[in-house]
Amino acid sequence: MLITSALPYVNNVPHLGNIVGSVLSGDVFARYCRLRDYETFYVSGTDEYGTASETKAIEQKKTPKEICDEFHQIHANIYSWFNIDFDEFGRTTNEIHTQLAQEIFTKLEKNNYLFQETLDQLYCPQCERFLADRFVEGICPYCAYEDARGDQCDKCSKLINAIDLKDPHCKLCKNSPIVRSSKHFFFDLTKVEQKLKDWFYDIISRSASPPKPFPVNKIEDGGESAAANNVGQHVMGTHWTNTAKAITEGWLKDGLKPRCITRDLKWGTKVPFEGCEDKVFYVWFDAPIGYLSISAKHTKEWDKWWRGEEAREQVELFQFMAKDNVPFHSIMFPATLLATGEKWVDVKGLCATDYLNYENNKFSKSRGIGVFGNDAQDTGIPPDVWRFYLMYIRPEGQDSSFCWDDFREKVNGELLNNLGNFINRAVSFVDKNFSGQVKHYAPTEEDLKYLEEVGQNLIAYGERLERVMLREGLKPILAISRLGNQLIQANKPWLLVKSSDEAEKARAESVMHIALNMVAIVAMIIAPYMPSVSKEIKQQLALDCDHLVEMVTRSKEGENWQPRMPMLLEVGHKIGKPALLFKRLEADQIKDFKKRFGSQTN
Ligand SMILES: [Zn+2]
Ligand SMILES: [Zn+2]
Repeated sequence: MLITSALPYVNNVPHLGNIVGSVLSGDVFARYCRLRDYETFYVSGTDEYGTASETKAIEQKKTPKEICDEFHQIHANIYSWFNIDFDEFGRTTNEIHTQLAQEIFTKLEKNNYLFQETLDQLYCPQCERFLADRFVEGICPYCAYEDARGDQCDKCSKLINAIDLKDPHCKLCKNSPIVRSSKHFFFDLTKVEQKLKDWFYDIISRSASPPKPFPVNKIEDGGESAAANNVGQHVMGTHWTNTAKAITEGWLKDGLKPRCITRDLKWGTKVPFEGCEDKVFYVWFDAPIGYLSISAKHTKEWDKWWRGEEAREQVELFQFMAKDNVPFHSIMFPATLLATGEKWVDVKGLCATDYLNYENNKFSKSRGIGVFGNDAQDTGIPPDVWRFYLMYIRPEGQDSSFCWDDFREKVNGELLNNLGNFINRAVSFVDKNFSGQVKHYAPTEEDLKYLEEVGQNLIAYGERLERVMLREGLKPILAISRLGNQLIQANKPWLLVKSSDEAEKARAESVMHIALNMVAIVAMIIAPYMPSVSKEIKQQLALDCDHLVEMVTRSKEGENWQPRMPMLLEVGHKIGKPALLFKRLEADQIKDFKKRFGSQTN
C-alpha cells in the first residue's frame, strides 16, 4: 500500500480543514493498512518552490531557503503533534528532487511532448527579474482603480493580464517595468489526451462495489450468511471518490490544452535546457514529482513502489487531498508520467475530500476565523480527541462544518458516556472483583448473538475502511462499545458476584470475559483513529497485539457460518490497571474557545 497526502505549500500554516483532508486522512488509512498487516509506505512533505516563498523571503529580508527551513519545521511539528506517522515527510527542495524532475522533463522533451513559445512579460531592469503577477501593481484597465494587482483588481474584481495594467510599477522597487519577451516550454497535453482518457476510464471501470448498508443487522434477526460474501477480506476494486471522478470527467470533457511548465523565477528547479539557465519549472509540473523524490529520499528502492511492471501488479496507490487538488493528481501528474513512456502504478484510490468549514464560515487566517496550526495544541484537548472529531465530521461526499457545540456533544456523548464508560466499567470491574484476571467462559445463546453482532460490526468496519470511507468506519466502533454497555447493563454482573449461588458468580465471570474481549477489539480497531488511546487501552488490558489480519472468526466449519468477534484475551490472562481515558468538555471552556478562535455563534 503506497499512500501519499497532498504536499502542503510550505508558507501556508495549515488549518483543521487542510489537516483532515490530506495528512490526517492519509494517516488513518495508513494505520488501518498496518493494522491489517499490509506492507505500507506513507509519504508526504512540503512543496517549497515558487513565487510565494520568494515574495515572503523578500518581505522578511531572508533567503527563500531560510523561509522554507523555518516553515517546513512548523509543518513537521504540527503533524507530529497530531500523531501523524509518515514514513517520510520530505521537501521538494532536496537534490534528488531536482535530479528526478529534470530527468522527467528530459524524457518528455525527447518523446516530443514539449514545445517552446515566446511570451511577452513584464521585466524590472532595476531588480533584474521578470515580475510574477503578484510583483506588479498599476491602474486597472477596466475601472481605473489605482492599486490593482497584476492578476486581479480588488475594486472591480476583474481578472487582469499583468501586461495590460496602465502605468505598471514593480512592487519591490516601485520603478516601471518594461515588456520583454521570454521563451517558455509548454507541455502539449493534447498529445497525451487519449492515453489519459484510456487510463482514467480503465480505472473507473474497475470501481469496487459499495459496502453493505449499516447498521448491518440487529441481534434479533440473525443476519445473512457471511460465508458467501468473502467477508473481512481485502477489496480489490478501485476507490476514487465521486468528487474526484466528477472533477476529472469535467476536465476531460472540456478537452485538454497545452500548458506552460516553466517560469522566469530564481527559486525553483532549474530547467535543464540550453538557453533556459534563468528558468525554473512551474509548480504544477514540479510539485507532484515530490512524491517520487520524497520516496527516493527514503529508500533507494523507491522504484519498486512506483515504476515498472512488478510495481503495477503489486502496489496499490492511494492519494489523499482536498477536492481543489484533484486536477493535479488526475490530469497533470498522470499525464506527465504517461508521457515519459514508462510504466507507473495506477492510482487505485484518488481520495478527495470536500471542504471543511468552520462554524459554517470559511477558515480565514487574516480575519482570525478558525483553528490554525498550533491552536489545537494550545487548547489542552489531546490530539486523539481532535483526530476523533475531525474524522467524525470528515467531509466525505459533501462539505461539512467544524462546530464547537457539536464537538463538545460528541466528545461527551460518544467518547465519555459511550466508549470511555464501557471500557472503564469493564476494566475496573475485573480489576476489583476478579483481581484483574480473565475468568471462566461459558457462553449462552444470548452471548453468542453478541459475539455475532460484534462480528457483523467488524465486517462493516473492514468494508468501510477498505473503501477509504473513514468517517463511516467510526460508526461500527461506537456500535461495538454500545453493545458492550448493553451486555453489562443487561446482565448486571455487580449483582451476580454478590450472589451466594456459585452458578450466578460463574455467570458474572463469563459476562466479563466477553466484555473484556469486546474492549480488546475496540482497542485494536480504534488504533487508526486514536493511536494513543488505543495504546492506553491495550496497556490497561495488558494486551500485546498489533495486527488484526482476520477481522472475524467463523461460528462453525463449512458453509453458512456466521462471523464472530475474535477473542484476543484468554482465560487466565492478567490485565493491567484501569484509568480514565477522557475528560469532559465543559460549556465554559467551549465558550472561551469560541471567543478565541473567531466563532460568531454564542
Ligand atoms: Zn478594476
Ligand atoms: Zn523592481
